[in-house]
Amino acid sequence: MPCITRFAPSPTGLLHVGNGYAALRCKQWAEQHRATMLLRIEDIDHTRCQPHFADAMLEDLQWLGLSWPEPVRKQSEHLADYQHALTRLRQMGVIYPCFCTRKSIQLELLRMGGAPHREDAASHYPGTCRHIPVTEQERRMATESSFAWRLDINRATAMVGEPVWFDEQGTPQRDTIPHDVVIGRKDIGVSYHLAVVVDDALQGISHVIRGEDLKESTAIHRLLQQLLGYPSPLYIHHPLLKNSAGERLAKRIGSTTLSSLRNMGVCPQRLRHYLLDGCDQLWPFNEGEDAAIIAMLGTPDKR
Ligand code: GLU
Repeated sequence: MPCITRFAPSPTGLLHVGNGYAALRCKQWAEQHRATMLLRIEDIDHTRCQPHFADAMLEDLQWLGLSWPEPVRKQSEHLADYQHALTRLRQMGVIYPCFCTRKSIQLELLRMGGAPHREDAASHYPGTCRHIPVTEQERRMATESSFAWRLDINRATAMVGEPVWFDEQGTPQRDTIPHDVVIGRKDIGVSYHLAVVVDDALQGISHVIRGEDLKESTAIHRLLQQLLGYPSPLYIHHPLLKNSAGERLAKRIGSTTLSSLRNMGVCPQRLRHYLLDGCDQLWPFNEGEDAAIIAMLGTPDKR
């Protein structure tokens, strides 16, 4: 069996140094295991992804010294594959349309006695639309401008069993899936979860190397694989690069981008070495500390 892994960024902004770290961890694993590392552009969400970020991503990763086989799979070019999987799940009766809005979910959680925070609407769906009769579902799907497809976790696990995934050592891992997750949306077609599972199967991915922030999604991915009859890769979740305040680097908090390091004159070999061997998962530089970055990672061999 060939060992194949993938790095699968979403072009929602410029890659930051934490993304570079994740790409290097994936490539390092591939080199150590004589595996192939594919690059996949996860751009199904046209409301957030932009083609110029995808182009910049390729440039930044090449600058960092990474390479990958061509062609690169771009999810936006394969929407029919994901729709096909969604249709199969629909035929199996394990997904249902949900007409709730974030606001209505929050109100429902309040009514049920909780005191929901804003983000609870995304992670604690109370199952409001799970038992709407089929005729009513169809009527609302035809008339309402937007709805989501949710995976009925109880039905799905009753059909194929609790999801169990395996880490690199082959140790079984079980996590509870907290609620009926969204796997399709009227506006963007399918969600990240379904697209990732379809692609990993179509691309023959044997090992998924990704950040520990995605660990909680792995049981969902395994359940979808079981439903669709796909094999399961082994999963390795690595720690993420953090700043000196202990936060994960993220686009949202304006973390240092790879292109800004390049423009500053950072040496990609030294950056690579620093990220993999020297920094202990810490990016200690704050905004404006360009001089310190150059002192540490600048190009000594610039002729
Ligand atoms: N596209 C996802 C992200 O950028 C990664 C998906 C995965 O590695 O499974 O966070």
